[in-house]
Amino acid sequence: MHSASVTKKSLFSVAVCALLVAAPAKATVYNEAVSGDLSDDKAAPTALTLTPGFNSVIGTVAGFPEFGGTDPQDWVSFTIPTGFVMTSYVNARFVSSDPQGFTGFQVGSSFPGDEFAAGSYAGYAHFGTAADNGGGSGSTVGDLLAGLPDDSEPLTWEGFLLPGNCGNCGAYCPIAPYLEAEVMLCAKCGQRTGLPVTQRIRDAASSVMLRDLGVAPQEILAVAQSWGEFRWLRLSR
Ligand SMILES: [Zn+2]
Repeated sequence: MHSASVTKKSLFSVAVCALLVAAPAKATVYNEAVSGDLSDDKAAPTALTLTPGFNSVIGTVAGFPEFGGTDPQDWVSFTIPTGFVMTSYVNARFVSSDPQGFTGFQVGSSFPGDEFAAGSYAGYAHFGTAADNGGGSGSTVGDLLAGLPDDSEPLTWEGFLLPGNCGNCGAYCPIAPYLEAEVMLCAKCGQRTGLPVTQRIRDAASSVMLRDLGVAPQEILAVAQSWGEFRWLRLSR
């Protein structure tokens, strides 16, 4: 995630990626309706370079041949510009009579493994009305933690402000996603509260809704493992 050469690909082509920048911009980096079908070859994905801000890829797939389809998969690789970090990967829109779609990614400029084997992916998710990946953003911190090993550390992409009393005036400040600098200021006195910001979901009370930490529906969360590696957990709606 921190290297200029890191690339990501998705099996399904409707995705929005956000880069961390001072002045967010929005760009459609690929639209199949304009530029034609994305690659159907996992060994040679359509190569795209992300731009600072929000990047969207818009596309259509059309089923496997055994079911009468003609375009079951689209493959794309994303190169992250030097000095930038990809902070989220969101399935922004899915329109289909098929109740379940799929997206997944692996690091690299092509996809070397069996795309039908879960172990080939660094992260993947099913989505759509029939998909259930567990632990949606409408669930609580406790619901999320119940499905994870005790020594794992699920993280939000953006930090969130823990609740407590303002260090200046003493007023109680509720938990809040840290999206804007104003969140750091007390609603009563307008001064900095001095309350801690964290990305550790375990720091929040188990009854807190994930959405109140700024976690979006169908967001892919990073989960730090006790041995230092990350796994990726995609939330359902
Ligand atoms: Zn205050």
